[in-house]
Amino acid sequence: MSDKTKTYEFQAETKKLLDIVINSLYTERDVFIRELISNSADALEKFRHESLTSEDVFDDHVPLEITIDLDEEKHLLTITDTGIGMTRDELEHNLGTIAHSGSNTFLTELAEAVQKDVNLIGQFGVGFYAAFMAGKSVRVQSRSWDGSEGHEWLSDGSGSFSITELEGLRRGTKIIVELKDDAQEYAQKFKVESVVKRYSSFVPFPIKLEGETVNTVQALWTRNRSEISEDEYTEFYKFVGNAVDEPVYRLHFTADAPLMINALLFAPKENFEVLGFGKMDPGVNLYCQRILIDQHSKNILPEWLRFLKGVVDSEDLPLNISRQALQDNALVAKLRKVVTKRFLKYLDEEAKKDEEKYLEFWSTFGIFIKEGATSDYEYQKELGKLLRFESSKSDKGKPVSLADYVLRMNPDQEEIYYINGPSRAAIEAGPYVEMFRKKDIEIIYTLEPIDDFVLSHLAEFDGKKLVSADRADLSIPESGGGKDEDTDDKEEQKLEDEAADSLVSWLKETLKDQVADVIVSKRLVDAPAMIVNPDGYMTSSMERVLAASRAEKGLGLDGGSRKNLEINPKNPIIKRLAELQKEDTDFASDVALQIYDNAMIQAGLVVDPLVMVERNYKILNRAIGD
Ligand code: ADP
Repeated sequence: MSDKTKTYEFQAETKKLLDIVINSLYTERDVFIRELISNSADALEKFRHESLTSEDVFDDHVPLEITIDLDEEKHLLTITDTGIGMTRDELEHNLGTIAHSGSNTFLTELAEAVQKDVNLIGQFGVGFYAAFMAGKSVRVQSRSWDGSEGHEWLSDGSGSFSITELEGLRRGTKIIVELKDDAQEYAQKFKVESVVKRYSSFVPFPIKLEGETVNTVQALWTRNRSEISEDEYTEFYKFVGNAVDEPVYRLHFTADAPLMINALLFAPKENFEVLGFGKMDPGVNLYCQRILIDQHSKNILPEWLRFLKGVVDSEDLPLNISRQALQDNALVAKLRKVVTKRFLKYLDEEAKKDEEKYLEFWSTFGIFIKEGATSDYEYQKELGKLLRFESSKSDKGKPVSLADYVLRMNPDQEEIYYINGPSRAAIEAGPYVEMFRKKDIEIIYTLEPIDDFVLSHLAEFDGKKLVSADRADLSIPESGGGKDEDTDDKEEQKLEDEAADSLVSWLKETLKDQVADVIVSKRLVDAPAMIVNPDGYMTSSMERVLAASRAEKGLGLDGGSRKNLEINPKNPIIKRLAELQKEDTDFASDVALQIYDNAMIQAGLVVDPLVMVERNYKILNRAIGD
């Protein structure tokens, strides 16, 4: 070893990863060539962009291409690119550590995924290490576009790597894979050619295999839609998204005004984020006149569309715009708006064409649409159309749109109602839907904690206010259903006004530490009581979510805001309580507190279980006749 060689240990996580790669089954070993070529293509794109924005570029005259050389005798496969190259520091860090290893579960997930399907390795941003599937040693010779001295990185993948200065290199990177004994087919031209054709046909630079160009360089998105086959689209999706699944949706559109746009966007089948991979990087690349300006661009689409894969190309962007300048570029902002609106419109159209298919997409990616609806005011109208929820008039597991709801609204109904609960069954057994059922008014069931935030942010749909049914000031319209013939019977049986007033003042006093107010309900049908929110903005569900996040942060309980208790003057327990309150105040207090706790539980809110169970036994004791 020369004096200028330094040896480094791989980062612990990289070691484990290499272990997985080296020891996994190699049914799909071809993938390593795709990964190396894809890295080369990235490096070439980066160089092309840098050379547009910088004056001082090393080896500027070298053509942008990828060359593959094979040596059957020495069992070598060499992939050379004239891309951006790596400095000594970059070699050490890019090829010694794993960039995206933030989450603890990363390696476990990765190991599982890679063992199932090696193809997935690229999705984890660790494609380079796939070289060790076929290589007993891997040598990386690289020289950066800044012209600093070149270096060689060398490793057998077992635990360490070395870096040595190497003179006389051209700009770019050469990767020399010394093939394992059982991987020598990768030094054969026909084998490598078939792999390149299969996986890398969309690489936008010539790939020369032993002097012969084996790919056709083309920008698929600039071609005419009618000339592109389904297979070409799917292959392109796999290429641009580093994906193995098939896309569920595809939008290929061109526009001339207000901006020149050529976009090809795909929605994948799988949502890797929910599979525990942590927050994913955006998957759409920004091009200008077919030149990649910003890969995995954070600027071209809002963050909540990060699950999309594809390309946006606009000739209106200045070619030499730097990546930093993209962020506050007005043109980019305009482009983002146009593309986002177009995509959301497309989704809405697709949903109308084939609701089944859309619901499948919704069950996988609905969470991103909801994220958009809670965080982005700009697209609320469009996002509102894409939301789906179960409702009292939907079948179980078949959510409906707000537009469907509006179509079914009763003539005198002006608001859209919703109520949160952990399940359909829990909501339907609870007090909030009683009057809706009776009056035959549809009510939306928000079954996820985020849903109330979504609807509360959205505030209205199609000019109709969105209102949570646990609001204190809710007024339910007369009815469209005509199911209330029995109202009059019940009227007769209900507590006299005077008795009700006296019960209310007693309850206010008894529950003064618990509630803001006690009210005689106009909307309870059977249940004795329910909790409603005087704060029109917060629903009980939102409050529960915020309390949980406070608890998670160790901030302790803040008790939430005070609620109102509505009591049902027709309910036998309430009627009896009006008398009991005078006869046996102690016992009546226990019953009142128990009614309050029960109502809190039905609202999904927290009660003190110890206190409640003790009180409950006391009441049971008396009921048994002790
Ligand atoms: P990813 O490409 O997904 O970031 P890899 O493990 O494949 O992950 O590569 C790690 C990093 O090494 C790349 O991000 C890039 O910075 C650098 N790199 C890999 N191959 C090349 C190459 N041929 N030219 C320049 N840089 C490269």
